[in-house]
Amino acid sequence: MSETSEPDTTLPLLQFQAPRRTKAPEHLADIEPAARVDFAARIGVAPLRVKQVAAHYFERLEADPALMTDLPAADRDEIVESVLPPLLQPVQSWQCDNGDTTKQLWRLHDGSLVESVVMRYPERATVCISSQAGCGMNCPFCATGQAGLTRNLSTAEIVDQVVSAARLLANDAAGLEQARLSNVVFMGMGEPLANFAAVTGALRRLTQPPPEGLGLSRRSITVSTVGLVPRMDELADEGIAVTLAVSLHAPDDELRNTLVPVNTRWSVSEVLAAADRYAHKTGRRYSIEYALIRDINDQPWRADLLAKRLRGRLAHVNLIPLNPTPGSKWTASLPDVEHEFVERLEAQGIAVTVRDTRGRDIAGACGQLAAARSNV
Ligand code: SAH
Repeated sequence: MSETSEPDTTLPLLQFQAPRRTKAPEHLADIEPAARVDFAARIGVAPLRVKQVAAHYFERLEADPALMTDLPAADRDEIVESVLPPLLQPVQSWQCDNGDTTKQLWRLHDGSLVESVVMRYPERATVCISSQAGCGMNCPFCATGQAGLTRNLSTAEIVDQVVSAARLLANDAAGLEQARLSNVVFMGMGEPLANFAAVTGALRRLTQPPPEGLGLSRRSITVSTVGLVPRMDELADEGIAVTLAVSLHAPDDELRNTLVPVNTRWSVSEVLAAADRYAHKTGRRYSIEYALIRDINDQPWRADLLAKRLRGRLAHVNLIPLNPTPGSKWTASLPDVEHEFVERLEAQGIAVTVRDTRGRDIAGACGQLAAARSNV
């Protein structure tokens, strides 16, 4: 035993703080538009060149120097390398649903692995992105939670997943029709509000009009959280009215304490009150995520309690059939039980949707992104 009174640095950090790691290289997408001139000076590139590269990256989704013919040929590679240092190295991709769903695995500069999933629908195209490598929230039914947190992603590492998805959709090489990326959901690996500064930076970059950002609409972006109450309030204050999704999974604290362990810090009532404040400030309806787990949270009385707690709130419920993770003893609810759960909520005036199960056969469905543990 140590006899000194030095703090014990081996103690785990608070779960939602990321351990310190080497930072990702600074990239155009990290930079607020007003700071681009300073950025240009820092990397030794003329501001005009940064502006030109920004138009290529955000407007044309281009990162290949050979195609940036407005840059001086002799310096092209060097300029692009400085302004857009490669952040996401593709490791592997998987397709299913006749090519409508693609899971992409990326290696970051320090070897960390993250995943994103691109989904084509008739009317829209959505990318599900990661905000952290791993996750510290430890929800027992979630594959990412099992591996723990490796590190926070930088703003550009988050934005570049979206740019890569938009590029994939714009490319008809796979024999699929070209599509325009319309929606972004922060429902991949990580707890977005535990990486607040990088995530809000990414939200600005995704919504700023080109060439400052990607020009996506705020309402087509969804940030999903376990319910870090102070950060939910900060997000409301940021003035970026994106859609908020709250991972509730149980209407009572007793069960939620086990399914979403951070509930022992911020209870169901506190989380719902924070979501209400968000709705009030932003004018945006929020969604309640509820993974239906057989015999765990799918009892009729829990449907009734959920309805009672949500009555009068600007919320709708998104039920997700549980995607069992490897080795888990839990599984999805039986169809009749799911049906009754939906009916009870609807009977009490609560809007409900049941999430589709895209990407199941490539482990690209909700909660199945566990790249940090894979051997690739
Ligand atoms: N950390 C954020 C975002 C991550 S996941 C959050 O928790 O909200 C996005 C959604 O998928 C969350 O609602 C999460 O609880 C849910 N999810 C995780 N594992 C799942 C699984 N195995 N089956 C179904 N949904 C799952």
